[in-house]
Amino acid sequence: MAPEAWLGDLSQNRLGAADRDLAALREHAHPFLSEHDLVHHVTRLSGHLTGLSEDMRRRVIAYSLYVRQLDVIQAATTRDICRDDCQRPPVGCCNANHFTILSLSDLMVSSPSPAAMQLSHVIDGLQRQETAYELRHGRTITSHHCDCLAEDGCTLRLFKSPRCVHYLCAEIQDRLLLKFGPDAAPFLAAMRRVASLTITVTADFTDAAILTSARPFFD
Ligand code: SF4
Ligand code: SF4
Repeated sequence: MAPEAWLGDLSQNRLGAADRDLAALREHAHPFLSEHDLVHHVTRLSGHLTGLSEDMRRRVIAYSLYVRQLDVIQAATTRDICRDDCQRPPVGCCNANHFTILSLSDLMVSSPSPAAMQLSHVIDGLQRQETAYELRHGRTITSHHCDCLAEDGCTLRLFKSPRCVHYLCAEIQDRLLLKFGPDAAPFLAAMRRVASLTITVTADFTDAAILTSARPFFD
């Protein structure tokens, strides 16, 4: 389901700071979002997340804007391969709960910063809300795979984990190289780097250079 529907369903607090959040988030480019989608997205999440500090609310919204743009990129470049030509049927790489951002072993190995822990925690709660909304609107979770995997695909559009949103299997990487040649290389390298990171700070969740490096796919 398109993310607008869930965003539109989120409870709102009248004391929100959408205008200020929007102004702050506009300092970063959002090349794969329309102005309408950007304003609606920020306004709805800002009004919903009033219980967070201003800094954390903006980090959460910025993360979801980033994931949404990667969703646009993947819809245009890889989704048809995953749907029609995956070499690992029936569920491809969605064979476990990869939506978990910080596992127990991550916590023990990397000692994430307090901000990274809180960002992970807030995203975890929003993942639950996003999936619950999809289930209320008719989708059905598959059994024995990822708890966010419905019969027609992932229930997360805005709050996939960094691991999920950056993962590209070898087949997909080969296909992109074949189709776009060397122009695909910076995108693939950046995606691999972030997908394999053990998160320690909030900067590890995203890489804005990935959005820039995807431009050649749309030329
Ligand atoms: S990324 Fe690769 S393994 Fe995962 S669903 Fe797509 S084609 Fe299948
Ligand atoms: S969260 Fe979504 S993309 Fe990630 S493993 Fe689960 S179903 Fe797949």
